[in-house]
Amino acid sequence: MKHGLPTVAIIGRPNVGKSTFFNRILGEKQAIVEDRPGVTRDRNFARAEWAGRSFYIIDTGGLEPELSEPFADVVRAQVLAAIREADLLVFMVDGQAGPHPSDQQIAELLRTSERPVLLLVNKLDKLPQETAQYDFWELGLGEPIPISSATGKGSGDVLDRIVEGLPEPTAEEAEGTALHVAVIGKPNVGKSSFINKLLGEDRLVVSEIAGTTRDAIDTPMRYHGRTIIFIDTAGLRKHARIEPGIEYFSALRAQRAIDRADVCIMLIDATEQELHVQDLKIAEKAWAAGKSLIVVVNKWDLVEKQTGTSVEFEKKMRERVPMMRWVPILFASALTGQRVQKVLDLVIDTAEQRQRRITTREVNDVVHELARRQPPPHYRGMHVKIMYATQVDKAPPTFVLFVNYAKSMTPAYLRFLVKGFREAWGFWGSPVRLRLRARREKKTV
Ligand code: GDP
Ligand code: GDP
Repeated sequence: MKHGLPTVAIIGRPNVGKSTFFNRILGEKQAIVEDRPGVTRDRNFARAEWAGRSFYIIDTGGLEPELSEPFADVVRAQVLAAIREADLLVFMVDGQAGPHPSDQQIAELLRTSERPVLLLVNKLDKLPQETAQYDFWELGLGEPIPISSATGKGSGDVLDRIVEGLPEPTAEEAEGTALHVAVIGKPNVGKSSFINKLLGEDRLVVSEIAGTTRDAIDTPMRYHGRTIIFIDTAGLRKHARIEPGIEYFSALRAQRAIDRADVCIMLIDATEQELHVQDLKIAEKAWAAGKSLIVVVNKWDLVEKQTGTSVEFEKKMRERVPMMRWVPILFASALTGQRVQKVLDLVIDTAEQRQRRITTREVNDVVHELARRQPPPHYRGMHVKIMYATQVDKAPPTFVLFVNYAKSMTPAYLRFLVKGFREAWGFWGSPVRLRLRARREKKTV
């Protein structure tokens, strides 16, 4: 069963220390945070773990009010967005500056939010000899918690309090076999239109299930005896426009949707002629997370077609992006409905492919046949031998290869093996992982 991870938002007026606190939490030794090398530090959300609970934490800072907008409106929009998206709110105030009129405004919104709120009084660097936190009882949000993000004092306690305040993990759906699908893609490619076409007219749509966050509504439907759950469809179905103050939630939403999905349907815009960096980033996120991918080239009705247009388009895409060689690509129109239902067959098919289990005997037969056809390159003059291989996991299919010298395996050779696996077993639409084991050596691709 899958649980959507709860979300914690840090709010408060500018300069109270939200980003400092956020970075402090990321730096906490035990708050293990997804931090792959190469990931930029400028993200404003991260996955954190504390006392056995995982959650997302989002820093709503960095929103500069537009000059044309009254400050109060900006704060209001920002706070309302946070209340809508988050399961718990961390409201930060500046203990050195004392209570500020904007704090009162925010507190008013929070008091009616029906969300747990932690009131942090920051910049109390001389803890425990500080008393400024008591001035903030007047906000009516319960006990003010004194901290110093600069020195780190109090941040472990705050993490404890956050975890205590998180909602219980909820069983998301009755059926463990349900397939989770996320529709992803950059703005304006037609995600809302696509979802609406797919679900809007379909009588098989059962009902909507509330997720952990108020607006994360999933839509299940039955298709060919399977339950397919479309993740986080509320915003899409309403054609919700991005509101001020909510931009930073969209990346988090996409990540959460990908996390929970088995299959991601990525839409791209046919009129744009090619894949953009942003499309690639989204696709790579899904792929790196081990999710199956289906690419839908949408707005196909707008493209002047001659014989072979789609073939050319597809060929170009597969040549440019190696990953795209292994994913289904479909040309559709959310406007006319052309091939929209067909995506459902692909969803079922790719979901089955990623679940495949290959017997160890068959894996070894194929591996040894591949090694006969093209032996691994020598390593420092030594003969490299693949001794044994086995599938250790599915969804995505993951194999382990035991070799005499793990370091000897070049990425090119590993790609050759994976290609051979795909030719033998399909795994259409799914990433395939291959790990190497040798005596005291490990390598992962
Ligand atoms: P944000 O706008 O709320 O994200 O605030 P920042 O994290 O950017 O911090 C604003 C300023 O306050 C920076 O100059 C920080 O160095 C400073 N600051 C943040 N936390 C503390 C603290 O605990 N003590 C002190 N003395 N300064 C802090
Ligand atoms: P989203 O931001 O990805 O959810 O995109 P929308 O569904 O809001 O669509 C963006 C715009 O593209 C809207 O004006 C849609 O009417 C239009 N659109 C979406 N799908 C198609 C399509 O297949 N063909 C055409 N011609 N327009 C489309």
